[in-house]
Amino acid sequence: FNVPTPINEPVNSYAPGTKERELLEAAIQRARAEEADIPMYIGGKEIRTDKKGKLTPPHDHQHTLGYYHEGGKEHVSQAIDAALAAKANWESLQWEQRAAVFLKAAELASTKYRYKINAATMLGQSKNAYQAEIDAACEFTDFLRFNVAYMSEIYGQQPPANSKGVWNRVEQRPLEGFVFALTPFNFTAIAGNLPACVAMMGNVVVWKPSNTQIYSANVLMEIFKEAGLPDGVINLIYVSGPDAGDVIFKHPDFAGIHFTGSTGVFQNIWKTIGENIHQYKTYPRIVGETGGKDFILAHPSADLAVLNTALVRGAFEYQGQKCSAASRAYIPSSLWDELKSRMEKDIRSFKIGGTEHFGNFINAVIDEKAFDKITSYIDRAKDSNDAEVVIGGEYDKSKGYFIHPTVILAKTPDYETLSEELFGPVLTIYVYEDSEWAETLKLVDSTSIYALTGAIISQDRYAIEEATHALRNAAGNFYINDKCTGAVVGQQPFGGARGSGTNDKAGSMINLLRWVSPRTIKETF
Ligand code: GLU
Repeated sequence: FNVPTPINEPVNSYAPGTKERELLEAAIQRARAEEADIPMYIGGKEIRTDKKGKLTPPHDHQHTLGYYHEGGKEHVSQAIDAALAAKANWESLQWEQRAAVFLKAAELASTKYRYKINAATMLGQSKNAYQAEIDAACEFTDFLRFNVAYMSEIYGQQPPANSKGVWNRVEQRPLEGFVFALTPFNFTAIAGNLPACVAMMGNVVVWKPSNTQIYSANVLMEIFKEAGLPDGVINLIYVSGPDAGDVIFKHPDFAGIHFTGSTGVFQNIWKTIGENIHQYKTYPRIVGETGGKDFILAHPSADLAVLNTALVRGAFEYQGQKCSAASRAYIPSSLWDELKSRMEKDIRSFKIGGTEHFGNFINAVIDEKAFDKITSYIDRAKDSNDAEVVIGGEYDKSKGYFIHPTVILAKTPDYETLSEELFGPVLTIYVYEDSEWAETLKLVDSTSIYALTGAIISQDRYAIEEATHALRNAAGNFYINDKCTGAVVGQQPFGGARGSGTNDKAGSMINLLRWVSPRTIKETF
């Protein structure tokens, strides 16, 4: 690399009595004490409207964190115009200058803004201190630093071969037009990375975050601005999905979308782009990470302690609201009774509540809509002959959207929670006969409509090899003797195929290459 060698940002523990804990607690207090007034950012200007949306912590919905200014179609148009106006200057900068902006943003996020961005993620998205730290402080900075390194490799690639009297070059051009970044609530790091890595490659961006992540998106934008990102390169708007879609997908300069969110929304976007394809100057790049129904498959040889940890952490950290969360598990009958009692013991020890109290492991799910959806699945399981709620099942939305970690035992392999994505703290177990290992491998593959993450837990090398082969298309990130969440930038490039997305691996050169359009130049002498 001819840029600083990236290393993963060290993770703070926030143990009682540490300085870092004191600083984070102070940042939370400060944020709770003030009522934020959050503008959109178009062309570097703060835009305020007379339509305001309220922001509340999911674990304390009576408290107001602040208000954001909501825009309409005219703001979408203004954001596109501002992006296109910034394009010529931005793309003509040497790539090192663009890299420097994002390296500075990484530095700010990991130092000056570390507690502010973590506090915003804890309050706005109901992540506990550790989950906020590995996301906002660490993964976000990792994305920026590693992507800068991959970017330097792309611009420093070996030129093509030449022949006598011929000189060949390849030039990496930004896309012709603007890119739309549509980002999710569940990772502040992803919300920041989707516009940032596109912009890094010389593109200009219209960024619409999820309404439930606006509180920390505002801090991300503060970081980009303080890092010196020129006006108009990333334009942050808060508008409804239909308003954004109506303007963006009809615009001739629409050059691509960088998306993380639900499968249904992504499929609709793809369809809309298809319907409008004749209007665009170029074929838009469509890059998306969507749903998951991620599995943990245990072989009869599995180490029970490893299996138990993989399940309780994989399924319940951040209330199961990771695309990668373990939401179904296939357990051999010889292990089930002992596993169940270990899981019960651990789950009973989890403290549930607001993120301001650092001992709470389980916090709230993101909003009422999510709460109602997840609990409707739990209620149906309670009433079903094909399923049984064996652990948890309680919920309460009076103060915050709290759902206890829940384990459903499915009695048929096609029970609904074995294939549908709930995006919450619900794990469905299917117990198979030990003698049916080969059939179970086929079952897991054939029910993987999504294919984001999966894990095999086994001490038998032959079984590991069989599972690795039989499930090679069932997960883009496959884990051996580990939980299926927590991919680290630079170590496990992240993404899946089938219903889970275009598998353009977040935090990798593969992803960055989608945001350039190479030109080959041949000169003859
Ligand atoms: N990269 C995250 C992980 O490995 C998941 C990202 C997501 O939920 O979209 O856990």
